[in-house]
Order: sequence, then C-alpha cells, then structure tokens
Amino acid sequence: MKPLVAIVGRPNVGKSTLFNRLAGRRLALVEDEPGVTRDRHYADAQWGDRAFTLIDTGGFVPGEKDSLLKQVREQAQLAVEECDVILFVTDGRAGLTSADEAVAGLLRKSGKPVVVAANKLDNASDSMQALSGEFFRMGLGEVMPLSAEHALGVPQLVEAVLDRL
Ligand code: GDP
Ligand code: MG
Repeated sequence: MKPLVAIVGRPNVGKSTLFNRLAGRRLALVEDEPGVTRDRHYADAQWGDRAFTLIDTGGFVPGEKDSLLKQVREQAQLAVEECDVILFVTDGRAGLTSADEAVAGLLRKSGKPVVVAANKLDNASDSMQALSGEFFRMGLGEVMPLSAEHALGVPQLVEAVLDRL
C-alpha cells in the first residue's frame, strides 16, 4: 500500500486546487457515512520515482447543524488517524484564523508529521509577509510559501512531504 498524504485545512484555503494540481489518476470519490464523515477524494500521485496516495479532505457542508469549526476539526482528526503525513494548508493572505488554530492544536497533539503551507502567495512580496511570523507561531515548524493556483512552491512542498514519509 502506498503512503497516504492528507490535505487538511479550513474551507477555501485552496486544498482542492492543490489536490488537483498534484493528482494524477483520480481514484474515487468516497462518500462516507452521513453525519459522521464527509466526502473525501482520493488520487494517485507520482513524484519522480515516488508514489503516494493523496486525500483531499473536503468538507464543510453549509447549513448543517455542526459548526464550521467542528467540521474542520473532524476532518483533521480523520486525516490524522488515516494518514502518514498531513499537509496542512492555510491562506497566507488571509492570515491565521481560529479555525487554523483549532486544526493546529489537534495536529500538534497527534504527533503525526505535518508540513504547513501558506497558500495564495502568488508573488514574492506576499511570501515575505506571511512567513514573517504568525503561521510559524502555530508551533508546527517551517511554513512553506505556496501558490497552488500558479504552481509556485509546489516542488519544494512535495519534497518536504516526501522527506517525512
Ligand atoms: P478548499 O475549500 O480549501 O478546497 O479551496 P479551493 O481549492 O476550492 O479554493 C478556494 C478558492 O481559492 C478558489 O476560488 C481558488 O481559485 C482560490 N485559490 C486556490 N489557490 C489559490 C492560489 O494559490 N492563489 C489565489 N490567489 N487563489 C487561490
Ligand atoms: Mg475543497
């Protein structure tokens, strides 16, 4: 079985954009038990001679009784249980939010290897700002600048993930 890498983070940070960029052959859309877990997309990914399976932890379901925070935490918890490495995506433009901090707390406790990406850093000056502190203070190590949309920082990010497998 290939190593499992889960992409986690609050809604709208760019998880699916990153997933689509890294995914080769799409495996399946897995619909889990309603109310317990939510849709997860699995894909094969290949990087040089390294293969892994990528999971896009989707979602927030608007209008459900569970709060956004609870849903995001639940997704992160499932990822922790299931995966070998967590790829934690944040929005480098929006900055740190309480949902990010909730996920970070859970990931710190898990002891699982985590790679943190600050996404939406579409140019170099954006990067400087985001990396100068607040995400680093989550205590999950280095924060890697990323623009999933423009494919910036992707090789560095994947190398960091593979280093932790
Ligand atoms: P998810 O909810 O975390 O899966 O986020 P999505 O991948 O659906 O992306 C949410 C929004 O952010 C979409 O409008 C994307 O086009 C946008 N987005 C994703 N990555 C980037 C990026 O690197 N730069 C910018 N500027 N926007 C991005
Ligand atoms: Mg998504």
